[in-house]
Amino acid sequence: MNTDKWEYVKICITALVAFSVVLSSYLYRSKIHIAGLEKDLTLAYTKIQDLKRLEAINNKQRSEIVRLNSEAEKLKKKVEDVEKLTKQVQILTEKTFETSLSYRRDASKYASRGGASLDEVYKKFNSLEKDIDNQKEQLVQVRSHLEILYERKLSVPAGYPVSGYISSGFGWRRGSFHSGVDICVNRGNPVMATANGTVSYAGWKGGYGLTVIIRHNFGFSTLYAHLSKVSVNAGKRVARGDVIGYSGMTGYATGPHLHYEVMVNDKPVDPRNYL
Ligand SMILES: [Zn+2]
Repeated sequence: MNTDKWEYVKICITALVAFSVVLSSYLYRSKIHIAGLEKDLTLAYTKIQDLKRLEAINNKQRSEIVRLNSEAEKLKKKVEDVEKLTKQVQILTEKTFETSLSYRRDASKYASRGGASLDEVYKKFNSLEKDIDNQKEQLVQVRSHLEILYERKLSVPAGYPVSGYISSGFGWRRGSFHSGVDICVNRGNPVMATANGTVSYAGWKGGYGLTVIIRHNFGFSTLYAHLSKVSVNAGKRVARGDVIGYSGMTGYATGPHLHYEVMVNDKPVDPRNYL
């Protein structure tokens, strides 16, 4: 081999070595780069998965808020209906008792309309709760008035203490005042209280003979005279219809009958208005 050829071969080998060094370093760097890219991709994928999961939760929450909002709307309509009824009952109560009840008329104003954010739904439920509380308060007032009315109904004398016809009425007769009515009845018939109250007298009372007096609420009292037997003691609570004694003709009586009196603030009134 001559010198020129040898030189050529040397140059070729050097070039080849240099080229392979460059190539291998390039390949090495590419490998690192690809590994980095792979890592980035994995991270991005995980992030996408997380976002999808969050989106699903968010959608679920949004539909839950929509559902709660429509529940609140339905409840609001019901509360408004009850509110109308409460107001009607209040007006009737005020007319009946000639009194005035306290009102909270702005109760049905709602802070939000139509929206469906969680905050608005909370506001709706809160104002609904307040409305329900207000209505409850107003109904309690109405109830206490009705309780008085019911108590009055039970306390005002009503009906006959015995069944029979009236043989002598209330008022002046033959120069003397007859302070009750005489109900014609045979001896031994049960005599019943005509209203709820407390027995204030039970025993002998001059010309009245065996007598029971019952004190009721609202200034009313009733008296049952000429009894053959008394079956209650003073202080006993009685209800309308309870047997308090038996008919007879004790005291000043020409025949068996029940002398029955109704008094308002201790003044006798015509019992026929309460029979
Ligand atoms: Zn009489």
